[in-house]
Amino acid sequence: MTISWTIEGVREAVAAKKVSARELAGEFYKRIEARNAELNAFLTLSPERAYAQAQRIDAMVAAGKPLPPLAGVPLAIKDVISTRGIRTTCGSKILEKYVPPYDATAVERLEKAGAVILGKTNCDEFAMGSSNENSAYGPVRNPEATDHVPGGSSGGSAAAVAAGLAVAALGTDTGGSIRQPGAFCGVPAMMGSYGRVSRYGLIAFASSLDRIGPFARNVKDIASVLQIISGRDAQDSTSTAAPVPDYGAETEKPVKGLRIGIPTEYFGAGMDEGVRKKVEAGIELFKKLGCKLLDIHMPHTDYAIATYYIIATAEASSNLARYDGVRYGLRVEGDSLLSMYRKTRGAGFGAEVKRRIMLGTYVLSAGYYDDYYLKGQKVRALIAQDFRDAFTKVDAIVTPTSPVPAFRLGERTNDPLQMYLADIYTVTGSLAGVPGISIPCGKVCGKLPVGLQIFGPAFGEARVLQLAHAFERAGGADL
Ligand code: GLN
Repeated sequence: MTISWTIEGVREAVAAKKVSARELAGEFYKRIEARNAELNAFLTLSPERAYAQAQRIDAMVAAGKPLPPLAGVPLAIKDVISTRGIRTTCGSKILEKYVPPYDATAVERLEKAGAVILGKTNCDEFAMGSSNENSAYGPVRNPEATDHVPGGSSGGSAAAVAAGLAVAALGTDTGGSIRQPGAFCGVPAMMGSYGRVSRYGLIAFASSLDRIGPFARNVKDIASVLQIISGRDAQDSTSTAAPVPDYGAETEKPVKGLRIGIPTEYFGAGMDEGVRKKVEAGIELFKKLGCKLLDIHMPHTDYAIATYYIIATAEASSNLARYDGVRYGLRVEGDSLLSMYRKTRGAGFGAEVKRRIMLGTYVLSAGYYDDYYLKGQKVRALIAQDFRDAFTKVDAIVTPTSPVPAFRLGERTNDPLQMYLADIYTVTGSLAGVPGISIPCGKVCGKLPVGLQIFGPAFGEARVLQLAHAFERAGGADL
């Protein structure tokens, strides 16, 4: 069997009885067995659950019943998303033995749609990171260049799809963690608008920023997964009741005449020259497709990294207070309650998580709240306004996903600030709540994929998918 299974391919093959869902799951477990020791993309496999689901699908095929849209499609789930009965570690020692008693809504919906869940993928601890090197279970390797990082924090999901170990995967994006690893591993990866996909069952990092979204081998498959997981969920009051369009149909619409904004602020100093050339070639491709290009300004872009790291760490310090040795996961005994807390959190959390809890506690503390957290919230509003202003003039915004291609393992671990700066083009859209996709846009150094990012207005996922699909069909990945 070839490496390039797509959702459409699986659906057709299963329906035509060319392959059973069971055989397909077996094939993917074989691939995982062959590559995972090297890549470290999966932390936990769930064959029992996968084969039980495959059996249900095969019974439907045998009975000639109509098949659900993802019938038999092998999927991987980032390990910050809850799965009933399957260990969910968040890449942390503190949850090493945690088994959730319920499924995240996104997982439940995917399974209802026929998907076969293969297992849980490696990630930076509590999704904090840009390289997957903050996982307590070791880094993931980039399948395109195994001495390089896959990006983060959803590095395991990106690597699994890129290496053909899953047909699609779920990741989460708080400041770039879907789009950036998608760019580094050379696969399409999308975050919908804040509120588009229920966060129920997503273990919180920064609740006002966290979003669940798909990785897949092509844009149509991204649309198929997004279709299933989108929509109101009574369990998440921030999920919207706005209707979910038919993303598959929208994806096919012509792009001629659409106005694309190119924000000057995203092409400044610090960008790798190879990346710049590829993204410029990508923009030229949109022109060839009949889109109108417009230079635009997003004046508050410079403040995005600082704002993001204030708001995200503030929320993280609050969300992570629950890991205290009493309610969840690890507990290290001490002579007093306080010493038990200290020992548990000291042993359970890694260095980056501790750094962020301290930063977040600081920016929320009585003396500094106004200067940092409140100021951060005000600047966040200005960044969101930049996007709203831009979308009065253009239909979409195109930028690089990351200023650099995948870096070498270990290259940036000693300098957290350098690591944070790599998020410069993704955190803006996170703060603004708008949808964004990263799609492959050629390679540099002969092997390292470059990602092109497309932002749309809030709940403009269809527009984003439409442009991404046209770009992909016109050969954007091979620029
Ligand atoms: N790299 C960013 C961070 O470390 C984004 C992480 C994310 O999106 N989960 O916070």
